[in-house]
Amino acid sequence: MSEFPLITWVFLGALVTIQATWIFRDARMRGESFAWLWGLFGLINVPSSFIVYILVTRRGNIRCIQCGKSIRRESHVCPYCRKANK
Ligand SMILES: [Zn+2]
Repeated sequence: MSEFPLITWVFLGALVTIQATWIFRDARMRGESFAWLWGLFGLINVPSSFIVYILVTRRGNIRCIQCGKSIRRESHVCPYCRKANK
């Protein structure tokens, strides 16, 4: 059974830090109320935390409050009726 060289851990540590930072920034930008929690979550695992984060936050479309069409959650203005959502 071979030991992991130190460089492996350094590399993984860097990867986890980058991932957590990216997730935190993205969550904050999207106005998630628990952005820091997402950041912590990003520290747990590479890359499954990232995959879960993307699945959870990109999962759904929302419905336009005016015309009811399905639009991207990121869209603040409905592309169909130009109504500002949010
Ligand atoms: Zn609309």
